This record gives sequence, structure tokens and C-alpha cells, in this order.
Amino acid sequence: MLPFSTIDEASAFLGRNLTLAETLWFNYSARKSDYVLYCHNILFLFVVFSVVPLPLVLVEMMRSVGFEKYKIQPKVHTSLSDMFRCYKDVMRMFFLVVGPLQLVSYPSIKIIGVRTGLPLPSIWEILAQLVVYFMIEDYTNYWIHRFLHGKWGYEKIHHVHHEYTAPIGFAAPYAHWAEVLILGIPSFLGPAIVPGHMITFWLWIALRQIEAIETHSGYDFPWTPTKYIPFYGGADYHDYHHYVGGDSQSNFASVFTYCDYIYGTDKGYRYQKKILRKLKEEIEKSGAQNGGSYPIHAQDVKSD
Ligand SMILES: [Zn+2]
Ligand SMILES: [Zn+2]
Repeated sequence: MLPFSTIDEASAFLGRNLTLAETLWFNYSARKSDYVLYCHNILFLFVVFSVVPLPLVLVEMMRSVGFEKYKIQPKVHTSLSDMFRCYKDVMRMFFLVVGPLQLVSYPSIKIIGVRTGLPLPSIWEILAQLVVYFMIEDYTNYWIHRFLHGKWGYEKIHHVHHEYTAPIGFAAPYAHWAEVLILGIPSFLGPAIVPGHMITFWLWIALRQIEAIETHSGYDFPWTPTKYIPFYGGADYHDYHHYVGGDSQSNFASVFTYCDYIYGTDKGYRYQKKILRKLKEEIEKSGAQNGGSYPIHAQDVKSD
């Protein structure tokens, strides 16, 4: 809730006229409590989980009209009912865990100092904070994910997320309830270290989930804009992690590739890519057709 009752009062406080964005924000948020603004995340996450994977459902249903060549594991076909079942499971977790977690975590947002007032942050401030949030999340998630691939973590918790050996968009947030809670920590850490505006926080929560849906899409589209982000992992990178499954010692990072490179946990993936490249060259030479992205049934190459 803003400490001004009129735009004139807000202008007097800032010592200038409000920008268009600030006027819109004033009109929208002035009479809403910070708690209500924070809980907008529940609605945003619901929309992201429900709507963003829908184009991928269409792509999976229309593979024969040209999308087949982008499928990372072309031998795997996921039916509409399987995708709907995954969505139902995700929604159950959403209403039982994700939503309630948002409802009760409001005090933490107040403690770290996420602000809702004026002035609004500049585009550059928002972008810089989002980059920091992604990097902190990526690093923290890497180590938690690696821990979850230990015997205890995998058997008790992480195996649920790996039920999809060929991931689909809806399966991005599909996980054990404990994993949903644990992975809230890396998402929260960035805003805790570099607190920003509520708008930045909304964007962060939504973009992180959109990114996760893209990396679980099962399709490696050459036109995706994320290809231009340096060190970005993407769908092919994380798909390999699911393909190998519980034994995987490769590709733990959630967003970028540099943690796996630095800590030597991308060797299995790079080895597969090398073999695949060689096979493709041979196939091109002989004019034959290959059936899949991963030619060797993977026993992952251990990192150490
Ligand atoms: Zn995993
Ligand atoms: Zn995954």
C-alpha cells in the first residue's frame, strides 16, 4: 500500500511528475496491501504453469507437420492424456504446497525489504537484478540438485522429478513436495541478497518458471531467443540430464552451463555430443537415417 492518497502527493514526494508506468502502478497498487500484492504471485504462477506449456502440447500433437526434427528424443511420444495427467499432478501440488507456501512466506519478504512504493526501478535496475537472481539461483540450485542425486536424496525425493525421462513442458514443476519446498530457497536467495521492487520480484518468479518450462520442453528449437544468452543451458542440455536419469552425473545446473563446466559435471553430455556428431557425419556420408538424438543408451560418463 502506498503512503500517498493522491497522485499529487506522490509527485510532491518524488519532486517530479510520475512517469506513465508510475501512474499505472499508483492507480493499481495504492489501495492494495503489500500482502495482497505479494500474493499476486499465486495467480501468476497458476497462469504460467497452466498456459505457457500449452503451445508445447500443440507442438507434440502436431509433430508430423514439421516439428519432429526439433524433438530431442524423437522416439518418445507423449499422449494428450499423459500430458493432462502431469498437469493435474502439478496442480495438486500447486494448491497443496506452492500456493500455501506463498501465503505464509510473506513475512520473509518484509524482512528482506522487497518494496512496493515509488519511485519504480528503471528497466536497467530490473534487468541487472534479474541477472543476479538467475546467477545466484543457478549456483545454489546446482549444489542442491547434486545433493539430490545422492542415494538418499534421489530415493526419497528427487526420483519423482525424474519420472519423466523425456521431459515435457508441464513436467517442469513436477516434483516431490519436499523438492518444491527445498528449491524455494535458491529462488528466494537472490531477492534476499539484492532486494528490489515487488515488480522485479513478480518478474523473477514468473521468468524462472518460464525458463524451467522451456528447458523441460523436450524440443530444441533453433529460433528460441535464449540461444543468444551466454552460457545458457536450454532444453537439449537439461533433457540429457533426464534421459540419463538417477545415475546422472551430468548437467545439474538449472539455467547456465558454467557450473557443470567448472566442476567437471558436463563430461557425460559432452561425450554424447561428440559421439552424436561423429555418427551424424557418418550417416551423412552413407545417406542413411538416424532415429534419435541420443545414439548410445546412456550410462553416464562419471565426472570423476
Ligand atoms: Zn536431477
Ligand atoms: Zn528437470
